[in-house]
Amino acid sequence: MEYKLINCDSVVKKITRKDALFHGNYCVDPYQNCEFGCLYCDSSFEKIIYAKANVVDVLKKEIAQIEHGRIIIGSVNDPYQNAENTHQLTKNILETLAQYQFPCHILTKSPLILRDIDLLSSLQCMVTISLTSLDDRVLRVFEPGAPSPKDRLKAVEKLRDNGINTGVAMIPMIPYIVESEIERIVQAANDVHAQYLLHKHLELKGDQEVLFKNMLEIHYPHLLPKYDELYKDDFNPRKQYIHELNKMLELYCNKYRIPGKITI
Ligand code: SF4
Repeated sequence: MEYKLINCDSVVKKITRKDALFHGNYCVDPYQNCEFGCLYCDSSFEKIIYAKANVVDVLKKEIAQIEHGRIIIGSVNDPYQNAENTHQLTKNILETLAQYQFPCHILTKSPLILRDIDLLSSLQCMVTISLTSLDDRVLRVFEPGAPSPKDRLKAVEKLRDNGINTGVAMIPMIPYIVESEIERIVQAANDVHAQYLLHKHLELKGDQEVLFKNMLEIHYPHLLPKYDELYKDDFNPRKQYIHELNKMLELYCNKYRIPGKITI
């Protein structure tokens, strides 16, 4: 993986549609591309990670001109990927948000977030840790560079122990692979006191679809015809499948008494 510093012209993007999933009004991404390499994600295509060196200067200028609202950090690229160890851009952004008293919602797969736990405690913030499977073998295929599920769950527990609003996201749910794990994931999220469990099905578009299916052919060849059928008409799976997935999630969320959406 190669790292490069760049300067950006703008950093705050307004979310124009109502964000029912993450409840954000703006988003900010300190890095371009992501080294965790998830197979289902556009951010993992390139092998160069660009760190936006002037992100805080630009953020300060822009934040003074926008209405108060919740900023999502990491909606496109993980803000606690390994580059953050060196560059600390996410940490600098959080310090700026604390200064301007803007609330935030951090999306990540990384326990590196625990480094900033004191800062998070001083902010109006929530954290969502993404967890798509508990099976290391599954994740080695679909999320080869991402932290282990065990470390992600430990991070949720530690954040909750420190009073930080934290939930888990099963996003995306990988068809015909994760169904058998859904109850265990909901239970695991509940065991570490996650306050909500978000979920969304897998979308397959363009180059990402090609890459994903190439990997399926290697690791799960028997599923290829099923995927062709499931995604025959659209980049979303068939409506009936989505409906059944949602029902299954609702059932387990009710069983373990964990909300299936953000209620904080
Ligand atoms: S961690 Fe997130 S941003 Fe990074 S490759 Fe995976 S899904 Fe994409």
